[in-house]
Amino acid sequence: MATTSGAVPPRDMALAAWGDPARHKALPSHARRWLAREIGLSDRKTPAVSLREVALAPSRLSAEARAALATVVGAGNVRDDAESLLRHAGGKSYLDLARRRRGEADVPDAVVLPGDHADVLAVLRVCAEHDVAVVPFGGGTSVVGGVAPLSGQHPAVISLDLRRLADPVRVDAESLTATMGPGMRGPELERRLAAHGLTLGHFPQSWEHATLGGYAATRSAGQASIGYGRFDELVVSLQLATPAGTLVVGRGPASAAGPNLRALMLGSEGTFGVITELTLRVRRTPEVVHDEGWSFRSFGEGLDALRRLTQAGLAPDIARLSDPDESRTNLAFTGGGKTTLLRGLLTARGHRGGCLLIVGWEGPRVVVKDRRAAASSLLRAAGAIRLGTTIGEAWRRHRYDAPYLRDDLLDHGAMAETLETATNWGDVAGLYDSVRSSLRSELGRNGKRPLVMTHVSHVYPTGASLYFTVIADRDDADPDGQWQRAKDRVTDVIASAGATVTHHHAVGTDHRPWLEEEIGTLGVQVLRAVKSTLDPTGILNPGKLIPGLGPEQA
Ligand SMILES: Cc1cc2nc3c(=O)[nH]c(=O)nc-3n(C[C@H](O)[C@H](O)[C@H](O)COP(=O)(O)OP(=O)(O)OC[C@H]3O[C@@H](n4cnc5c(N)ncnc54)[C@H](O)[C@@H]3O)c2cc1C
Repeated sequence: MATTSGAVPPRDMALAAWGDPARHKALPSHARRWLAREIGLSDRKTPAVSLREVALAPSRLSAEARAALATVVGAGNVRDDAESLLRHAGGKSYLDLARRRRGEADVPDAVVLPGDHADVLAVLRVCAEHDVAVVPFGGGTSVVGGVAPLSGQHPAVISLDLRRLADPVRVDAESLTATMGPGMRGPELERRLAAHGLTLGHFPQSWEHATLGGYAATRSAGQASIGYGRFDELVVSLQLATPAGTLVVGRGPASAAGPNLRALMLGSEGTFGVITELTLRVRRTPEVVHDEGWSFRSFGEGLDALRRLTQAGLAPDIARLSDPDESRTNLAFTGGGKTTLLRGLLTARGHRGGCLLIVGWEGPRVVVKDRRAAASSLLRAAGAIRLGTTIGEAWRRHRYDAPYLRDDLLDHGAMAETLETATNWGDVAGLYDSVRSSLRSELGRNGKRPLVMTHVSHVYPTGASLYFTVIADRDDADPDGQWQRAKDRVTDVIASAGATVTHHHAVGTDHRPWLEEEIGTLGVQVLRAVKSTLDPTGILNPGKLIPGLGPEQA
């Protein structure tokens, strides 16, 4: 077992924007002009207010609770300065950012930074004694309200920031596992694993800032989920600190020792316990990484080909099929001579207005060669044309850029948000049509012309997820209502179609009203029973995930 420590801390994210402020990206002017034509974006300056001016409510944490917390973690690790509180005011959804950009922020009563598992247990004990709610906080990249500092029925709430629980990373190169703390971030973990010739292979778009604990708590899915599996498939075992004590779930490579408690803790979103350690399955660094682009005449043809690839066991490790609106927007945003050439080629081959597919293979050279050959034959037979590696490599280079572009759009009078779902193959096309038409009609009020783009990037033998991105001219009279109404309506559409309300973003506050429809009343009662065993006073993350438990009823 090799052990490494000394995590390089990531740069803090901007308070009311995505990511590293030094990496801010502006949309090129040709893309802005295109949006003006396409959606009537009336390009105007809508900058965020300075968060230094935000008036914060006074802390409700009692002096006794504060002193007890300071005794556990040290006075310097109980923080209530404005910057610390604002950094824990919520996640990174459009509505989170929009509110903070206007200078509105609900903040926790303090931020507490434990240093190890024993600290977390002791913090939970103090909070149960002093009736303080606890919101576990990883990278704070939730887009469903998961880290909103809600106090529920409790008079105060702390944000429990897990960044100090990252080290050490223990690698078992024989069994191909790695063990680490929940505050470890993806780039740092990959750096440590690379030294052993290993990789985790989990690359969600939030990779630069999300934490390993957050991935487990939300059942995240990365861009290479087809090849490497969703995050829940990578977890070997978890250690949790709960108000009722320590829980360790998962043993050995596989087990039939009763129901799978590890699965019960994955996706528990900080409501059952705080993940304080994870052991994950890792792989050898691939010898070859090969990305390329393909084109289909229609989304339906592309979906059918992905289904057949997956069911035949020929799926690539990465597959990302964009619908016509996303494909033409990608080309319009990229611009330049190469795009003009590509458009010419697509027109000449009868694929104008078609769909782009990015595929990626990773692994030993000979295996990648054979897998590519088999998949390419199927793609060609399904009517696809190969566009070459440039487009695939460009996707890999820019795959973390989109959230930065969203910030630039918000600076220029737009609203921009994403949502996702998944369903069985027989229902994918119908769900695609109904979600799109619901989004277009809700966001098309008051003469707006929203752009609704869709892609498929997670496929299974039985079905696929659909990921929607919307951009619209912002309704300045009711900016939050504009999105909230559309999101509520479309979630009704998704739930009544029998699809899942979330394939990977999790439940949080946003999807909680629909959870009972998805898992049934008895399913909710099971969650409540587990919660009352592990967290009898309901201090952990009130108002999230479990319907009927806080903030209104907990
Ligand atoms: C730009 C952007 C792109 C994204 N792309 C993807 C994507 O490609 N795939 C994807 O799956 N998701 C994506 N997300 C959503 C988000 O990044 C994921 O849900 C991620 O797993 C959250 O990790 P985090 O560390 O930021 O968790 P946080 O946001 O801090 O927390 C999320 C939830 O987990 C709980 N939690 C966090 N840490 C712990 C812990 N140690 N113990 C118990 N509970 C804990 C929190 O209380 C909260 O309920 C994206 C979000 C953004 C803003």
